[in-house]
Amino acid sequence: MALLVQKFGGTSVGDLEKIQRVAEKVKGFRDQGHDMIVVLSAMSGETNRLLAMAKTLQKEPTPREMDVILSTGEQLTIGLLSLALNEMGCPAISFTGSQIAITTDSDHTKARIQHIDTDPIRAQLNAGKVVVVAGFQGCDLKGNITTLGRGGSDTTAVALAAALKADECQIYSDVDGVYTTDPRVVEDARRLNSITFEEMLEMASLGSKVLQIRAVEFAGKYSVNMRVLHSFQDGPGTLITLEKESAMESPVVSGIAFNRDEAKLTIKGVPHIPGVASNILGPVSRANIEVDMIVQNVGDDGSTDFTFTVHRNDFERTKVVLSQVVKELGAREHDGNNKIAKVSIVGVGMRSHAGVAARMFECLANEGINIEIVSTSEIKVSVVIDEKYLELAVRALHAAFELEKEPVETKDV
Ligand code: ADP
Ligand code: ASP
Ligand code: MG
Repeated sequence: MALLVQKFGGTSVGDLEKIQRVAEKVKGFRDQGHDMIVVLSAMSGETNRLLAMAKTLQKEPTPREMDVILSTGEQLTIGLLSLALNEMGCPAISFTGSQIAITTDSDHTKARIQHIDTDPIRAQLNAGKVVVVAGFQGCDLKGNITTLGRGGSDTTAVALAAALKADECQIYSDVDGVYTTDPRVVEDARRLNSITFEEMLEMASLGSKVLQIRAVEFAGKYSVNMRVLHSFQDGPGTLITLEKESAMESPVVSGIAFNRDEAKLTIKGVPHIPGVASNILGPVSRANIEVDMIVQNVGDDGSTDFTFTVHRNDFERTKVVLSQVVKELGAREHDGNNKIAKVSIVGVGMRSHAGVAARMFECLANEGINIEIVSTSEIKVSVVIDEKYLELAVRALHAAFELEKEPVETKDV
């Protein structure tokens, strides 16, 4: 008998028939004697629908009110699943984030969980009930409803698993595990039996939306056993591990992530004097705009070209900030491009192998794809390219690093 936290994503609770199937699945686990906490997302498309409705009435919705609205999607599904379970003779009780006291900070629409009161959950589990919790939401100390950022139900599930020391946190979705890349883009992408937290964190941060970044961070920090599985197909899924289980799963590159959400800005002809970077990025950060990649180049004339990327939603706002910076710094001009994409190769195996970036660049060159910016860390190489070559680049890299093949055993001697 185990304590399991199971999270079902939007497509898995997308209609009443699917909610019924989820209820049957949960009941199956309960009948085996497990203590069950179930975390649900809103029905697929519902959060987007709520967001769009809010924006028709207020262009930039007040974050507090936005959270009041967004939290309703999950409130509906938890109530429905609990009804379905009760109807099957499997007692269940639903809780919103406020009811279960998932306490967060007050940073509306991207709040962070600070504390979970586990007593009421334990009391219901001890009373033999399945506890059904609304994902993606909590409340601050003043009782305001908060949400945890898109994809935040994953984080609710991991946080509950950590707080209650669950045996496993199972993330059920429309995909049967974590793949070498998004299977919607590369047909022969391969399911990984396991992936390390470190790699998963890079993959999620670099655009693989299969798990929310914060959920992976949380799971790593609290050593939560986490597995990604298909809601309606049996299979082992993908285990997120602290270390690679064996050399069998130690290829140089484990996966490819990509992200269409970026935009690039360049400020040209900046005098090459100390303080340039802070004079440019200071005003950008004061406007609450997050910067991702940064490149600075000194030209023959001694002036600097400074390029950086931001989230695509912040593109227009950043351009306004830069117009002012150009005047203040006596720079020549600025320009930008929001039709770019970032492609990244990720793998802990890169630590012990040289020449991985060169192989990546050669592959892209063979496809005639220009690289605009490069950034590297110990376990990843990211490049910015023209958005229109994104899928070509991902497929070519997947083939070049032979990710469709099961890795051959490379035991150290
Ligand atoms: P849910 O609604 O269940 O939370 P998501 O849409 O958030 O599901 O995540 C599942 C989707 O993530 C898959 O349908 C898949 O297209 C996408 N995805 C992106 N990268 C990967 C990857 N590396 N492995 C598996 N799925 C991925
Ligand atoms: N419903 C929320 C979203 O669509 C949270 C989630 O599904 O995890 O982002
Ligand atoms: Mg998700």
